[in-house]
Amino acid sequence: MRLYNIKDHNEQVSFIQATKKGLGSKQGLFFPVELPKLDINTINSILKTDFLSRSYKILSTYIGNEITPNNLFMCIENAFSFPISIRSISSNISCLELFHGPTLAFKDFGGRFLSQILSCISDNQHTTILTATSGDTGAAISHAFYGMENIRVVILYPQHKISPLQEKLFCTIGGNIETIALEGDFDTCQSLVKMAFNDKYLSKSLNLNSANSINICRLLAQICYYFEAVAHFSEEIRNQLVISVPSGNFGNLTAGLLARSLGLPVKRFIAATNVNDTVPRFLNNGIWNPKKTIQTISNAMDVSNPNNWPRIQELFQRKSWELTSLSYGVVSDKVTRSSINELDKIGYLVDPHSAISWHVLKNSIKDDEHGLFIGTAHFAKFQDIVQDILGREIVLPNILTKHNKLPLLSYKMKPNFSILRDFLLK
Ligand SMILES: *Cc1c(COP(=O)(O)O)cnc(C)c1O
Repeated sequence: MRLYNIKDHNEQVSFIQATKKGLGSKQGLFFPVELPKLDINTINSILKTDFLSRSYKILSTYIGNEITPNNLFMCIENAFSFPISIRSISSNISCLELFHGPTLAFKDFGGRFLSQILSCISDNQHTTILTATSGDTGAAISHAFYGMENIRVVILYPQHKISPLQEKLFCTIGGNIETIALEGDFDTCQSLVKMAFNDKYLSKSLNLNSANSINICRLLAQICYYFEAVAHFSEEIRNQLVISVPSGNFGNLTAGLLARSLGLPVKRFIAATNVNDTVPRFLNNGIWNPKKTIQTISNAMDVSNPNNWPRIQELFQRKSWELTSLSYGVVSDKVTRSSINELDKIGYLVDPHSAISWHVLKNSIKDDEHGLFIGTAHFAKFQDIVQDILGREIVLPNILTKHNKLPLLSYKMKPNFSILRDFLLK
């Protein structure tokens, strides 16, 4: 698989190089040179097979022969070792539940596949994984890389801006996992990480790798669950399917669009955001104008400068798709709360992020369409907020109870690159 740097098309790398480097020069994202497309017969036949064999077909179509078939299949099998479920919520709306993995959010798909691929391609070289998280990536990456030899993981997150249980899930692990509570927001964390990658000495001497959703390896893994979702429905519904994606950094939506580019039948996608609405405003008036990040109860989507957006624009341009075909919607905290209540009344409990995708879908869907909203995290990760909204106690899954009892091990840090640099070099 060849990829080019969106900011400098002359810079081309292989899949392995793109996975190791994360970003190209000038902080440019890597994007596939070839956009493979499977014909309708192949699509129909893989939709009939099981999740692992189908994921192998999808990923080998993109990745090619850089990873041997046996190794690739093993990576897929080890990474995707937990269930996906599709729940019917009402007559024309279903939820794609992606939170049944070890850290209860969809980030487990990308995080675990990345850790498998990196361990498969690493030649025992020491690597430092440096990542910014808006809440759930931190846990997925920490759990996926915990205990791996020659790998040091450093994770930055915005202090007091992720849920207490999200924090407990990855800041209590220790070992090769170091966590930094930064005084700032997610965009600040993200820009410090980018500066570290731009620092040639740092990047080389530590063999820095980013496990952010800017890493193409994570995005490719996420294509697979869109196929699983479509496979669940009858052929009749497939062509009327509208998928709503609760978006922050826009990796999840990028993966969905890459699935469609590969030939997956989906009528349209919806980009659902909270009030950090840079993309909806852009789709509305064509002006890219990120504002200061606003803290919300859907904190994993508190991103005002979404890193993956340039990939979506690149894809639309390459495929000659109109950006106007992308639907969008913005949901305030107030409406997020009432949506959680509304769904609870019909017997379905959701977290704030999934509530946003449901709300925008419900308002957008037409009579002949079938809606699928993505359930990105387990409601219990946001215990405080959800309990407050529902006015009753909710029970925690075992993994959260266990981590909740452990002490936090995070370092506190000011948003200053030279402090971070010293920390990394120590
Ligand atoms: C990361 C995350 C999102 C946003 O996904 P992006 O790929 O960054 O757009 C939404 N919901 C939850 C629960 C998340 O953890």
